[in-house]
Amino acid sequence: MPLEMSRRNSCAMQSEIRNMTIQCSRIGGINLSQGLSDLMPPKPVIEAVKKAMDDGFNIYSSYSGLPLLRAAIAGMYSKRYGIEADPDTGIVVTAGATGAFFCAAYSLLNPGDEVIVFEPFYGYHVNTLKALDVVSVFVRMQPPDWRFSYDELDSAITDKTKGILINTPANPTGKVFLREELEMVSGIAAKYDLFVFTDEIYEHFLYEGFNHVPPITLPGMRERTVMIGGASKMFSVTGWRIGWCLCDESWARAIGLFNDVAYICAPSPFQAGVAAGITGFGEDYYTGLRNKFAKKRSMLCEALSASGINPYPPQGAYYVFADIGSLPGATSRERAMYLLEKTGVACVPGSAFYHDDSGENLARFCFAKEDDVLEDACNRLELLKKDRHE
Ligand code: PLP
Repeated sequence: MPLEMSRRNSCAMQSEIRNMTIQCSRIGGINLSQGLSDLMPPKPVIEAVKKAMDDGFNIYSSYSGLPLLRAAIAGMYSKRYGIEADPDTGIVVTAGATGAFFCAAYSLLNPGDEVIVFEPFYGYHVNTLKALDVVSVFVRMQPPDWRFSYDELDSAITDKTKGILINTPANPTGKVFLREELEMVSGIAAKYDLFVFTDEIYEHFLYEGFNHVPPITLPGMRERTVMIGGASKMFSVTGWRIGWCLCDESWARAIGLFNDVAYICAPSPFQAGVAAGITGFGEDYYTGLRNKFAKKRSMLCEALSASGINPYPPQGAYYVFADIGSLPGATSRERAMYLLEKTGVACVPGSAFYHDDSGENLARFCFAKEDDVLEDACNRLELLKKDRHE
């Protein structure tokens, strides 16, 4: 009998994002495909990590994280949104937001359960569920503002539904869920007694007056919501692997125990650095971040429009989802490859964000880049104009 790998391998294939990154570096292009920021982390946060190493924070922390980071997270959410959580029992520090969702799904869902996922989706969410034999049931959000219908959400529920996943602000659309939309979700969650998993990693990246409403703050949501956040985006430290979740004590304990099994703990010195950032920075840091990213967002949206690519200007996060249907090609992958060959700018084909062929005219561009890199990308996009006039 030949050796066989597990069924789960089907969801561990190379993502379209990594694939575009490889294609991009092959031609020395500008990579607007990967969702990581090439910006430097704030100096005080880096200094705090160095100090933590010197001070001996080099061993395992508690599986739920360093007490000082849990206290910082609790303080931050209390001050910003009025969410109260006991740092000892209601917060778990994890290996990124990715680790938080994995451990939450592992500990709260069974194989065969269904989870509602809004589409277009972030691939890691769907692959995490798939790896755990949990079935994603998709509810479509429609451009330009990515609204969804209550009836569609309600009719997606079956007797196997165990949870709803919300990503706000969302990747790839930049959608920021409005209070009225969250009320629809909380109504359905209460009606069918469901968990709600919320990925709020982009909570600080908001544009044009949009506000972040944490779903856990809505009536009836405190007990059923696993609120997930992380430091990757707010401090540009994607490689540090620091995330967290805040939820009811009983869920937090189960999630913490799975975090222990999978990772033992998140990296200790980086936990200390993130704690220093959270406690040390005031609102002006986050306002500065928003302003900086708002400029980048405008720059990219304008360049895309000028090159004949129709952007859906994002309400939050740091991606522009855009219509690339005017480019030659039969699929989003072919169109993205055409763009890369022609201009040297890499994006992610829209098919990566849909379970069917609905993304074939779409692509995602990341604008978390230093201004000179983004400017270079925007200039290169102009080559498309020339192409049209030839
Ligand atoms: N959640 C969303 C929606 C993301 O877009 C990303 C990264 O692109 C992550 C989570 C990853 O977060 P972390 O680095 O904390 O695992």
